[in-house]
Parts: sequence; C-alpha cells; structure tokens
Amino acid sequence: MLASRLPGILPALTEAEALEAAAIRSVAGCGIDFHKWKTRPFRAPHHTASAVAMVGGGPVPRPGEISLAHRGVLFLDELPEYDRRVLEVLREPLESGHIVISRAAHQAEYPAAFQLVAAMNPCPCGYAGDPAGRCLCTPEVIRRYRARVSGPLLDRIDIQIAVPRVALTELSNGIAAGESSASVRVRVVVARERQLQRSGKPNAALSNREVLKHCALAASDRLLLERALDQLGLSARAYHRILRVARSIADLEASAAVGTAHLLEAIQYRRALGAT
Ligand SMILES: [Zn+2]
Repeated sequence: MLASRLPGILPALTEAEALEAAAIRSVAGCGIDFHKWKTRPFRAPHHTASAVAMVGGGPVPRPGEISLAHRGVLFLDELPEYDRRVLEVLREPLESGHIVISRAAHQAEYPAAFQLVAAMNPCPCGYAGDPAGRCLCTPEVIRRYRARVSGPLLDRIDIQIAVPRVALTELSNGIAAGESSASVRVRVVVARERQLQRSGKPNAALSNREVLKHCALAASDRLLLERALDQLGLSARAYHRILRVARSIADLEASAAVGTAHLLEAIQYRRALGAT
C-alpha cells in the first residue's frame, strides 16, 4: 500500500518527461492514459514475470517493465520469489539508468531510470521477529530465503526498513491521523527544488565526484561513515549512496550542510537487513 502511494508524493513529470514516457508506452504497445498525463508511472510486475517482460526483448526488442517505469516506480512485491536471473539484470540499469537489449539481428537501447521499491517477508512464513512467536522457520530456512536476494542487489537499495506488524485497530486509528500524499508532496517538491538549484540535478543523479562536493562531511563524520561501512560490511558503492541519502534528508530539513544526524539516519537505513 505504501509503495503504491509513492507516485502521489513524487513531483509531476515535466512536459518533456511525460512525452518520453508516452513514447516508451507507444513503442511497448501500451495505450496512453491521458488522465494520468505527467503522473509518474507505477509498475508492479508479478514475480512470475520473465526476464523479457521485465527488461525488454523479443524478436524486435521492445521495452520491458523497467522502461515503462522510467522516471517512476518499479515495485517488486515478495522480492525473493522473483527469478534470481531476472533480479540480477536489474543491477546494470539501476546504475546507468538505461538498458541495452541485444538480439541476433537487432540492438535497442531504452531509458530505464526507475525508482526500485521492493517488499519481502522476514522469513517464508512471514512471522520471524513477531513478538507473538508464531514463526516456526529454522535459522537455515531463513538464511536460504534471504540469500535469494543477492548482496550486490541489496547493496544498491539505499533505504531498507523493517516494518513490524501493525494491529488492525491501530491501522484504522492511524488513517484519521495520517498525513495526505498531497501535503507530503509539497515537502518533496521543495527539497527537490533545493537540489536542482544547488547542483542542477536531483541528488540521485549526482556522480560520485559531485557527491563528494555537495555532500561534504566534517572530518569526524567521515570517520564515522567509514567505520559504519566496515561494521556493516558495505562496499565503496554504498559510501556514495549513503551520502546521497544523507544529502536528501538534509534537504528535507532545509539544512545547507549534511550534519551528523542526517548521516546517522542514512546509515540506519542500511541496517535493517544487513544486521540480521
Ligand atoms: Zn517464519
């Protein structure tokens, strides 16, 4: 439910981006819904989706789900259930923002700069960590289940959060008190505008060199980050990714500098799966 709300808090597409999305849909043979013009796409392919359906292909290579999700959200529910080979081909477009599909006679390149959102259970039965103690999975079963999602893919997921079970009564009470997507979007748009003014692009698109320039840390925070990477067994890639997230947290708070609290929060988002 949270994932499907994400397009509602993202800034609208520009006219040029909306045309680009329409062109991709057209090449893929999908219709264009003008009621959703400038709304960022939300794609949720089922875990039985083939590699071709996911990344594109066919005799005359057509765009797949990752291109239909360009500048929007690709949501993979029950991540470990997807074919591991399908998941592994996501790694390249997650870095580059495009996909090259090669077939014997044809080669095609499609844009694929999507926001990956994925959900998974803590174990096959879904109850691991539940205070009621209903999980009967053995540690080995849990280990094997989680290992279906590779380290290199997890490494590219910047924000990982454990979501504890919510009681039904709490959920219905929460609806009344919750904030609307429209009001969250106002904050997002302001933070994004701040990014565009500073560097001419959103934080997600900063090169590693630009990250070091725009997300400069105090010496003590640099040390803190290096130690955290070491403890969590994270790669050098994660270093820059954590800095981008910290920069965005600072932007949401209208803070010019990336401070210790922003950095700690960004590191925290790496612990949910890494620490178990
Ligand atoms: Zn279980």
